Amino acid sequence: MTSDLLEPAQSEAEREAVIKLVREFAQDRVAPRVKDYDAAESLPSDLLEEMAELGFFGGVVPTEWGGLGLDHLTFTRIIEEVSRVDHCLGVLMSMPSALVGSGLLKFGTTEQKQRWLVPLAEGRLFGGAGVTEPRSGSDVAGTQTRYARTDGGGFVLNGAKAWITNLDRASFFVTFATKDPALGRSGLSAFIVPADTPGVIKSPVHNKLGFRPLCSGDLTFDDVHLGPDAMLGPEGEGFAVAMTSVEQGRLSVASRAVGLAQSCLDASVQYARDRIVFGQPISDFQMVQQKIANMAVSVQAARLLTEQCALAMQRGERARVEASMAKMYASDAAQAAAADAVQIHGAYGVSEDYGVARAYRDAKVFQIVEGANDIHRVLIARNVLGTTREPRR
Ligand SMILES: Cc1cc2nc3c(=O)[nH]c(=O)nc-3n(C[C@H](O)[C@H](O)[C@H](O)COP(=O)(O)OP(=O)(O)OC[C@H]3O[C@@H](n4cnc5c(N)ncnc54)[C@H](O)[C@@H]3O)c2cc1C
Repeated sequence: MTSDLLEPAQSEAEREAVIKLVREFAQDRVAPRVKDYDAAESLPSDLLEEMAELGFFGGVVPTEWGGLGLDHLTFTRIIEEVSRVDHCLGVLMSMPSALVGSGLLKFGTTEQKQRWLVPLAEGRLFGGAGVTEPRSGSDVAGTQTRYARTDGGGFVLNGAKAWITNLDRASFFVTFATKDPALGRSGLSAFIVPADTPGVIKSPVHNKLGFRPLCSGDLTFDDVHLGPDAMLGPEGEGFAVAMTSVEQGRLSVASRAVGLAQSCLDASVQYARDRIVFGQPISDFQMVQQKIANMAVSVQAARLLTEQCALAMQRGERARVEASMAKMYASDAAQAAAADAVQIHGAYGVSEDYGVARAYRDAKVFQIVEGANDIHRVLIARNVLGTTREPRR
């Protein structure tokens, strides 16, 4: 299956130029500040404004909808680059292409794209995606948030979402509700909810283990009245919208995890060369070398799985299993790399000054978000065993 939504791939020279721009920005503008804004639990607005001016939020969104029209391979590389310094900026850079924007691109009307996707891709506003609920994280079909039609042809939403990111910045949320929980996935529909609609209540969680600069928390809908234009995609197709969003989202989680793992490898190599113990650099010790070798192999394997997923998406294919493999493997690799990096740094690994402590805290969260890794193992196993329940769309 091919998609008319895809733009031609970048030439290698164009790809390298974009990657270089993002790398230099991350090193020059982000690296000096990340420790402080991680501690403050808030992304600096001026940094996001600079990124918007450079077009960093455009990603794979086609140029006609305000994006950069990058191919998926270039996209994954720039998300990796920024994530070598701070993957939380990678979250915001990927949202227009993935968790928030991909459903709008595939299922939105022209008016919905003009109103929400174009400013999102241009970095003029931010969005959020409300999938997880207090009692249904992994089980999207178990959504309890309900919608009903109103007399004027609009909708009213009631329910609660949990752990929703961008509560502080989002101007709108793409979210999901059912007309009857007993209908399972066929009862689900997707909605666009402006964040300032009466009845939208936001309650951030503070002092998280990782992902601290991102504002995540509860999003409650208390009699939220929406117009007829709020439904995204056909009624009853919410599950398909959600899967479009999470598959693109998993590619970006994998890219961010590769960037984080690479940063752990880079920091470990430098530290192991510099740190003298028993009169020699610790890089001379075979057990340190073993950790570095394992990191180098797993980072490269994770990158290759991620790029395989990107290339499948670029061909317009449904990449459900590729996305699960990339997300699961890359986040496990990041967690292992971060643990080894802290070990190589000894006591200094515990200090926030070296960056690997932050990587260690963040890496654990990667194994949970956008589908806990156990869920991905189940999906992959079902595919291999030929017992997949979901039809390929
Ligand atoms: C920092 C952060 C940001 C987030 N941002 C967002 C966001 O923007 N939007 C959003 O919608 N969500 C967001 N989430 C939620 C995240 O996607 C969910 O936490 C994740 O999908 C797991 O759901 P859960 O926490 O409800 O785990 P549960 O579904 O309760 O699962 C708990 C554990 O049980 C195990 N398990 C569950 N089911 C199975 C099974 N079938 N087989 C084997 N093992 C199983 C797994 O080990 C899993 O980790 C965020 C979470 C965090 C921590």
